[in-house]
Amino acid sequence: MALAGAGLMSAPLSAARMLAALRAEGLDVVEHPGWRTHSRTGPGRPWGPVHGVLIHHTAGRSSAATVWGGRSDLPGPLAHGLLAKSGVLTVTSAGRANHAGLVARNAYSAVLAESTKHPAPSAASGTVDGNTCFYGLEIENLGDGADPYPDAQYDAAVRWAAALCRAHGWSAQSAVGHKETSVEGKPDPSFDMHDFRRAVAERLAHGPDWNPLEESDMPSTLGLYDDTPRTLRPGAWTTLPVEHTDLLSGAVAYDALALVTVKAPVGSTVQGRFFHVREDGTRWQSGIVERAGTTGDTFADFGHKGSIGKKEKLRLEVVYYPATPDDDEPVTVSAARVRGLYWKAS
Ligand SMILES: [Zn+2]
Repeated sequence: MALAGAGLMSAPLSAARMLAALRAEGLDVVEHPGWRTHSRTGPGRPWGPVHGVLIHHTAGRSSAATVWGGRSDLPGPLAHGLLAKSGVLTVTSAGRANHAGLVARNAYSAVLAESTKHPAPSAASGTVDGNTCFYGLEIENLGDGADPYPDAQYDAAVRWAAALCRAHGWSAQSAVGHKETSVEGKPDPSFDMHDFRRAVAERLAHGPDWNPLEESDMPSTLGLYDDTPRTLRPGAWTTLPVEHTDLLSGAVAYDALALVTVKAPVGSTVQGRFFHVREDGTRWQSGIVERAGTTGDTFADFGHKGSIGKKEKLRLEVVYYPATPDDDEPVTVSAARVRGLYWKAS
């Protein structure tokens, strides 16, 4: 079954199916004249079976002519699509394109296995002709880390990857960055691919018509208060319930502040952070915020804002360090409050 399934899933999409999948995912698509037959497919240059989508940035402006026609040293097309700052996608090929170059075999194997781990590409593992098996997207961006990806553009990139993964029955782990596959040290794209895959996975958990930008316009209020005494043992990170252990779930973003009252000796330290528990039990944590105790009660505040997966749970944890390391007396959290805003998922 696995073999038959893999075979079916990995035949490249026709131009018509690709276009339909992209439009169904809500992309604003412009067809470059001639794109349906524009490719590098030919003798010794196969296209397919396909196994994933590869993300690039253009490292320049006004790249349309180059993505279509190529450069003196590399014939076009150089991608299957070019994504403008506006989020408009121009489709440029439905066949083989010169974008991936040589892919490290260890990176390729991780994509094939849809592993959540994407090892650094190692030339020593061998190489694969990436143009045979990856769809490629060029995103217009200078790639200098300062040039922003507007929301509409980033959202469109997520939609592009999700559309192709959905059409093939792949998970978000089939979406990788050029920097994750290239044996030539390519740096693109200049954003975090784990975040990107998380956004692709979120789309794939919904139907293709899902529209998170519209949904997340109106925030809801987060307000929790708990004065149940909680014990903190020195040096031990402790999950702190505030009315509930899970402070938030079913949200896509939040901006929250926790205020924790600890009866702790002068000179002691309280640290805290929010963390997310994913569906598979793994966790992501925000940066530690440290507050030094002054006198008597310590009022510690820990803030974080950012995105969160719909199926992830938001929790708070704190740790207490006494002023003197050999002090093993526990202290008591006498009250905790969490307030802020969050944006609900559908
Ligand atoms: Zn690239």
